[in-house]
Amino acid sequence: MGGMFGATSKTDCVCDIFFGTDYHSHLGTMRGGLAVLNDGGFTRFIHDITNTQFRSKFEDDIVKMKGLSGIGVISDYEDQPLLINSHLGPYAIVTVGVIRNLPDLMRRAFKKRTTHFSEMSYGETNPTELVATLINQEATFEDGIRNAQENIEGSCSMLLLTRAGIYAARDRFGRTPLIVGQKDGAVAIASESCAFPNLDYEPVRDLGPGEIVLVTPDGIEQKKPPLDTMRACAFLWVYYGYPASSYEGINVEDARNRCGRALARRDDTRMDFVAGIPDSGTGHAIGYAAEAGIPYKRPFVKYTPTWPRSFMPQDQRVRNLVARMKLIPIRELIQGQSIMFCEDSIVRGTQLQDIIRRIYGYGAEEIHMRAACPPLIFGCPYLNFSRSRSALELAGRKAILELEGEQPESLTEYAHPDSEKHAALVENIRQRLNLTSLKYQRLDDMIDAIGLPDTHLCTHCWTGCDSPCER
Ligand code: SF4
Repeated sequence: MGGMFGATSKTDCVCDIFFGTDYHSHLGTMRGGLAVLNDGGFTRFIHDITNTQFRSKFEDDIVKMKGLSGIGVISDYEDQPLLINSHLGPYAIVTVGVIRNLPDLMRRAFKKRTTHFSEMSYGETNPTELVATLINQEATFEDGIRNAQENIEGSCSMLLLTRAGIYAARDRFGRTPLIVGQKDGAVAIASESCAFPNLDYEPVRDLGPGEIVLVTPDGIEQKKPPLDTMRACAFLWVYYGYPASSYEGINVEDARNRCGRALARRDDTRMDFVAGIPDSGTGHAIGYAAEAGIPYKRPFVKYTPTWPRSFMPQDQRVRNLVARMKLIPIRELIQGQSIMFCEDSIVRGTQLQDIIRRIYGYGAEEIHMRAACPPLIFGCPYLNFSRSRSALELAGRKAILELEGEQPESLTEYAHPDSEKHAALVENIRQRLNLTSLKYQRLDDMIDAIGLPDTHLCTHCWTGCDSPCER
């Protein structure tokens, strides 16, 4: 998916930009980048963070950086920030999202015969460069950003570091968050509000969908008001948002606790204790345990110092070993026990299968699993979240393939929590994972637990609908 951070201050703010960006490390796996602006121009560094923490790659760079404003990014894919020289003046740009119509937009740009793009490895075009091209087609930054927002299919939030300040723009439907924070003499803007507390910023407000602002040390100037339609990514609260972050004023950990409580309210399973699959299952499990009145325990503890990243590397065999290294089982807590595990979601189920095998290996009597969201059966067309994963790799889609012998044209019935097909899908996954019992959260319960109206949330990866489905 990716995350970004920017700060502008009356005094040097390189440290804020460095740490503020670092607080987005859970959102991306490939590249980290920083750019700062001072009287001498831009200073920029980009590093591969595939196997190394952002901090260790950049700590030698920040001593070379000085500036009153800057932006940083953790990216799943392309090199960023890009430094652009245009008729609008020089600027640095970072983006978060996915451009589904990139080839079409490139063709349209080529027709003007004044455009070219640098090639990345494998002959691909850097999507952030395309966004800059769309911005440069207009007479002002705000019109250029509006041009990009109106032409991009998918989603794209961005920060532009300019001499006038930092332009911040949230994607048209507000799928990815952007939150403004302020402290004495400085303003910051972040994908994750968890970047603020330890840097002494107070959250001021979320940008609305499609809203454009110009941020300076003196405050926030609105350049384009928000649009009416909001589709914030519901998965942020359930799975990949950071527990200390809030979006639309709703804290992630709080929402996860409510998700767990909702799961427990529909459950009468007997168990010895409740546990979460670390990290994002933990908040759900705490909520479940509190509602059910059952002890919460940690039959696994994490060991993370040498492998801080969660999705890497690409090779599945090595990834399995990394996942295993990060969770150390405690036999004394597992042996002879009936355990209720809460998990944020079941994506492919590969790592979960290994975890379950190991828990049985350590003597568990029963393993129950509750997923905090419904079965994932559609890919995400809006964020880079599942870039390396085809929708057909999802555990839900593999189950459907097994049940039907081929992928059916319509998946509607499988998405319906009261249908027989849905029950068959869940049973197929339960058997494959060798669980004593498996239940998924209902979509309506998940939406209630988040606390926004369903019309304000994107739930496409569970329903396949771009707005609340007609039932
Ligand atoms: S499809 Fe899923 S992951 Fe993608 S934006 Fe919508 S809810 Fe989020």
